[in-house]
Amino acid sequence: MNISIIGSGYVGLVTGSCFAELGNRVICADNDSKKIEGLKKGIIPIYEPGLKELVMSNMKKKRLRFSSSVKEAVLESEVIFIAVGTPSLENGEADLTYIENVARNIAQNLNGYRLIVEKSTVPVETGKWVKQTIATYIKRKVKFDIASNPEFLREGQAISDFMHPDRIVIGVESKAARDILVNLYSPLKAPLVITDIKSAELIKHASNSFLATKISFINAISRICEKVGADVVEVAVGLGLDKRIGPSFLNAGLGYGGSCFPKDLDAFVTISEKLGYDFGLLKAARQINQEQKAFFLSKIRDALWILKDKNVGVLGLSFKPNTDDIRNAPAIEIIQALQIEGAKIKAYDPSSMDKAKAVLGKKVKFCKDAYEVCRDSDCLLLVTEWDEFKELDFLRVKKLLKRPLVIDGRNIYDHKRMEKLGFSYVGIGRRR
Ligand code: NAD
Repeated sequence: MNISIIGSGYVGLVTGSCFAELGNRVICADNDSKKIEGLKKGIIPIYEPGLKELVMSNMKKKRLRFSSSVKEAVLESEVIFIAVGTPSLENGEADLTYIENVARNIAQNLNGYRLIVEKSTVPVETGKWVKQTIATYIKRKVKFDIASNPEFLREGQAISDFMHPDRIVIGVESKAARDILVNLYSPLKAPLVITDIKSAELIKHASNSFLATKISFINAISRICEKVGADVVEVAVGLGLDKRIGPSFLNAGLGYGGSCFPKDLDAFVTISEKLGYDFGLLKAARQINQEQKAFFLSKIRDALWILKDKNVGVLGLSFKPNTDDIRNAPAIEIIQALQIEGAKIKAYDPSSMDKAKAVLGKKVKFCKDAYEVCRDSDCLLLVTEWDEFKELDFLRVKKLLKRPLVIDGRNIYDHKRMEKLGFSYVGIGRRR
């Protein structure tokens, strides 16, 4: 099939490359012409394992190309995916201006039947607005369909998630749209959930909100564990072995971040309010998440007393491992809070240093590796659980630190082992 993806970011670029890999001819379009010029030369603007190889091989096979013209993308494809950003407005509502802009742009260039698919995460009823917008701005009398096909990939394992999804959600209102999407996804052999557009939109918001709530739930349990001397890691094992609950998303720690959960929860709370429902459960999940960072900061203060002029080493800046994405990364908020109290920060991350530099500037010393972070630091904070931080040489770490204090925001270290090695070890919700 001839496909175009409008918006070539984390989702658009992965989606486009994977559809090309499945044998389709794909145009990835973006209005960031610098990004497109780079992509044409093989410069991948994000870090995502395996993505560069996939882009290069499909460009070579002439199944994948890049364009800064939405017009070209619309004219040359049967199916158009919208994968632009849907960030939060200040009041928490989803900012749908990029979606609206693309919808108008598509309308002005439609010259025959097209299926227009919402890939971006959007509040329920956005499909209705997209349809109305296209109908309003369309220039020629041509038919079109709208569909919702939310994306569930996770940054860091996006290609594998796209190629082996748990399910594919297809929200449609015509047989033609249904047939096109079923056909397009048929090579993936994944369970299909075929529904109406509003239900598909809701599935995405409900999924992300449920997962975020699960994280906040275990974080709330971690607080109780600390109060009574129980261990949240063991509690999570006991919980997760119940098949009705499952073990994933039960790691207590600094809470969720990233470009999706915080904004999608905000958007879901706001759209629910607009629809006349007060989604108190999600508000509580959001509050627990915020408190978890404050809780972590209080642990640092408890251990170091005065933060002014203390050297604090930070391991991990991206919002989770295997990505360079620092949008809503807990590390950024924690570093900024520590700086306000006068701490001097040294930090290292395997892939997001450039992005972090752009946000944090010169006040942070960015190091070449974890050991340079440790040198002369008064404490070491583990913020993002990259694999390479799990395998540190702790004898070396101990020699480099000014005092052997590790505050582990993701509970990746074995506290008994750390204490045996002579560290003061502080985790989240761990038995002392
Ligand atoms: P992103 O910011 O990485 O990419 C969005 C791209 O859209 C940017 O490159 C931007 O330049 C482009 N764009 C904006 N307006 C445009 C326009 N008018 N014409 C052409 N291009 C335009 O965002 P992302 O992380 O890929 O997320 C995209 C959507 O997918 C969001 O709704 C997000 O919630 C959702 N989503 C993201 C993830 C994830 O892990 N990142 C997972 C599932 C769903």
